[in-house]
Amino acid sequence: MKILITGGAGFIGSNLAKRLVAEGHTVVILDNLLRGNKLDKETFNQIVFIQGDVRDESLVIDAAKGCDLVFHFAAVLGVDIVADNPVETMDVEVIGTRNVVNACEINNVKYLMYASTSGIYSHSAIVKNALTEEILVDPRTSYAMAKRYNEIYLASHFEEKGLNVLSLRFFNIYGSNQDNRMVVPLFFEQATTGQPLTVYGNGKQTRDFTYIDDTVESCVRLMRIRGCHIVNIANEQEWSILDLAQLIKKITNSDSRIIFVDAPKKRYDYEVERRVGSSIKLKNLTNYKPETNLIQGLEKIVSINYQNHIHLTL
Ligand code: UDP
Repeated sequence: MKILITGGAGFIGSNLAKRLVAEGHTVVILDNLLRGNKLDKETFNQIVFIQGDVRDESLVIDAAKGCDLVFHFAAVLGVDIVADNPVETMDVEVIGTRNVVNACEINNVKYLMYASTSGIYSHSAIVKNALTEEILVDPRTSYAMAKRYNEIYLASHFEEKGLNVLSLRFFNIYGSNQDNRMVVPLFFEQATTGQPLTVYGNGKQTRDFTYIDDTVESCVRLMRIRGCHIVNIANEQEWSILDLAQLIKKITNSDSRIIFVDAPKKRYDYEVERRVGSSIKLKNLTNYKPETNLIQGLEKIVSINYQNHIHLTL
């Protein structure tokens, strides 16, 4: 297949691109490189790279030419960055997604997979110990609101125009080569550079950390699914942020302290006490669910990046 990945130089997109290239697909990447290029040299040399912004309509139309499928992953990302740039965040979502949908229509692309977010659940009630795709969502921030709008916008394109659309609600994806906008790479950086690990609040807030390879596997398997679906990409395990800090401190053999600090005020609307996702729908659709638990995932990161680490699982 010929596949366009918008935001393909980012963390998830670059890992997906590597896998798709290895499977023999032709991959086109559109990325503005605002946060750098996470594609390794080998993958970069095997893809068609277009530098630019998803808000540029004609560029997106060009990029989608001859494609069978589009992964639309370009977005403004990271709580602090999004909170500082809510207008740009929403513009990139709304204008970018409209451009991608138009480009699909003009180029007769029949399948679109979109990076939504588990942030959409916000304070939704966790029923039976996990958030399912059917429950009442609670988007409160510019980012979550725009992502939710796009889920509905894409579903409307399925209803009216028959574009197959799949919105992926990613639950705290982590792995090697991620930048420190997210808590896992930030704690790694702090632990390995002698800085204190900055746990916000009491650290009892929980997240469901999903390993990158499992995320890529989920995306690849979902490429076979047609229709209109919203699907959680989650590991179904709940870890507190304090647990995460302690695990990373231990696994990196770090002398850093763990300190409790107030989260920046701008994070207030983004903070959620509990977040854990159900993978049942993903499993039903693909016969697969992310299985790498947090300890195994952290082990993989250290074995890729750090020499003197402690094995947590031994
Ligand atoms: N967090 C933290 N210290 C930091 C950065 C983040 O304790 O220096 C916490 C944050 O309060 C949140 C969790 O880590 O509960 C995940 O934050 P992140 O920004 O990675 O993603 P979110 O799940 O909030 O979108």
